[in-house]
Amino acid sequence: MTESSVSATRRPRRGSTRIGSIETSSLRFRRPSGRHRLVFIDVEHGVKASRSRLVPVQPVSRPTTWQPEPVTVPLTTVDDAVRVLAGIRFVALTGAGISTDSGIPDYRGPGSPPRNPMTYQQFVGDEAFRRHYWARNHVGWRHMRRTRPNAGHRALVRLEERGLLSGTITQNVDLLHQEAGSRAVIDLHGRYDRVVCLSCSQVVSRSRLAERLDALNPGFAESIGAVGDIEIAPDADAVISATSHFRPAPCDSCGGVLKPEIVYFGENVPRARVEAAYAMVDGADALLVAGSSLTVMSGLRFVKRAARDGKPVVIVNRGVTRGDAHATVKVDGGTSSVLPALVTRLPDLDASGP
Ligand SMILES: [Zn+2]
Repeated sequence: MTESSVSATRRPRRGSTRIGSIETSSLRFRRPSGRHRLVFIDVEHGVKASRSRLVPVQPVSRPTTWQPEPVTVPLTTVDDAVRVLAGIRFVALTGAGISTDSGIPDYRGPGSPPRNPMTYQQFVGDEAFRRHYWARNHVGWRHMRRTRPNAGHRALVRLEERGLLSGTITQNVDLLHQEAGSRAVIDLHGRYDRVVCLSCSQVVSRSRLAERLDALNPGFAESIGAVGDIEIAPDADAVISATSHFRPAPCDSCGGVLKPEIVYFGENVPRARVEAAYAMVDGADALLVAGSSLTVMSGLRFVKRAARDGKPVVIVNRGVTRGDAHATVKVDGGTSSVLPALVTRLPDLDASGP
């Protein structure tokens, strides 16, 4: 039996079992056939067993120049996550919470101010909304470009390099996963560094558009920057007011309306992108949600998909999420500390299978 057979199982039930002289934690996976499979794990004692066979686990700490941050949540819940994810391949679904420690505020996180984001219908249907949006975006995207990945992003890179993480689906448009070094990334809600024409579909880089906007609005970004009261939102918005004199740029091919290649509220994620994300979830044994309150269905549907197929769902997030009812384990903590802890404590795949 291989560890990947977990993918065909139901949500595991946890228990405690003695193998030889060692008291282990056990996970009971119910398969679609109705038969049960037990996996015994004792990370503390460095052993893992399946069907009553003890298998030594390689030491999980190894020499590295990378230093994880101290864990600030109870280790017991992190251990629960380790027990669920040990020995299987999982996909990560990330949200704004993983980027807050890079200086990008999470407008849905605990204590966040109420926010009334512009909808797709407002952007497309009203020139004044578009002018206001582009004025704010013209300031906000510069801040987005200056942000750097944090320990949470780097932890996912390590998990991917070790073959434990098969891919990352992100609701963020900040590209910090790619900058950290993640390879298999699906930018579910688009990316801030591209702009698309709504008429001819031409895609141009945001930095190229910035040159045109600077030429049309000399001194605008600098004058706003001097005020010093700018906030940036996950979609590269900046909260500023005096935008009525801002001049947006039309498409330089056809004169059409330009829009950031970002999925707005009220807009659907492109079908092919959704299917690619579903395929990523379907190809994994479990789902790790990192830093998302799962408020919008565009992310929650992948949690429901995994839960429907009986795959374990581990949620790491500060505060409640809309997917908590589907979680096998919920770790109420920050991704910058919990994800590095998973890197340290999860055993390698090739050493964990029977
Ligand atoms: Zn065009």
